[in-house]
Amino acid sequence: MSTIGILGGGQLARMLVEAGTPLGQEFLILDPARDACAGAIAPRMTADWDDESALVNFARQVDVATFDFENVPADTARFLAQRTQVFPAPDALAVAQDRLAEKTLFREIGIDTPAFMPVDTREDLDRAVAQIGLPAVLKTRRFGYDGKGQRLLRESADIDAAWQDLGGSPLIVEAFVAFDHEVSIIGVRSRDEDFRTWPLTRNWHRDGVLAASLGLHGTGAGRVADTAKSHARAIAERLEYVGVFALELFVVGDRVLGNEIAPRVHNSGHWTIEGCICSQFENHLRAVLGLPLGETTVLAPSVMLNWIGEVPDMRIALAEPRVHWHDYGKAARPGRKVGHATVCAESPHELSARLRRLGGVLEREAQVAPVLDVLSHYAAD
Ligand code: AMP
Repeated sequence: MSTIGILGGGQLARMLVEAGTPLGQEFLILDPARDACAGAIAPRMTADWDDESALVNFARQVDVATFDFENVPADTARFLAQRTQVFPAPDALAVAQDRLAEKTLFREIGIDTPAFMPVDTREDLDRAVAQIGLPAVLKTRRFGYDGKGQRLLRESADIDAAWQDLGGSPLIVEAFVAFDHEVSIIGVRSRDEDFRTWPLTRNWHRDGVLAASLGLHGTGAGRVADTAKSHARAIAERLEYVGVFALELFVVGDRVLGNEIAPRVHNSGHWTIEGCICSQFENHLRAVLGLPLGETTVLAPSVMLNWIGEVPDMRIALAEPRVHWHDYGKAARPGRKVGHATVCAESPHELSARLRRLGGVLEREAQVAPVLDVLSHYAAD
């Protein structure tokens, strides 16, 4: 039995604790927020990321430390790494925290990306827009998530307002990609360099926040899935990564463009809890503990629906078979991820029918509609 320290105590930490408990592991959560939701099911320390005496105390109590939150300062991770084992390594975390560093890495290892340029001054911004063209997206290099810290530049008139909002921190401008769809590939690499991926996941966002994910064999055209997997492997090897990470990609025709790396378990992999032999959460723990990795094979075609702002009525949803409910125990707040459900089935056809019913009874038709559209291509199989 080991004690695993988790930096960040949100729903990802909570699901790591849920996955690690049957393995006999113990946990200690560190989070600056008193109401961090993983604290309801595991011991928690409340301290700021730069509180060195708290970090020393934390390091003393854990055998290994990992992250639920990618914006833990890399210096905090380095401070801890001098005192305990930390996975993924602080240097890998640092690359994934900076949109410029990660896109530069993508290019170095042959992953296609949207055109991008760093922006530190208003003059840089004008130059970048002149070179890349419009539409484009202005993003903060750091601390962005769920569409936060981003402004779409549709026309020249948008530039001033975007600069007003985001200017002052290091930025990046990217070409706007009119993608066919968004996918992610979740990879895991063990301490002894075993590497695995789960099947490619199709993702749908609303207002920059993940709304739904579809996981099943052959979700992506074979070539796209193969490219995504080889990109994920290249990243894992280059960063000497240990643990789970997600690579988010845009698909445009045959092109697969790198958007970002999340150096942790990822929302688009939640369906692996019930949909695969070994979930992203369990495999992350196996990786950081130095255990053999589990099978990433699909057990059931699955759809994950995120509950954003508020959790719908569980009583209605659970009347449908094979609906797996996850309420994170967080206070309802607009735009906040407060729970999710994974819907599984024997076949894409059955999944489609179940999802349609669930969308209807929960009045989430708009959320399930694009997933049903894709499933209709598989449902005939
Ligand atoms: P990110 O925080 O970079 O993952 O962005 C959140 C979401 O915004 C993505 O999942 C896309 O739906 C959208 N987005 C981000 N960057 C671009 C881009 N360069 N072109 C088109 N859409 C984008």
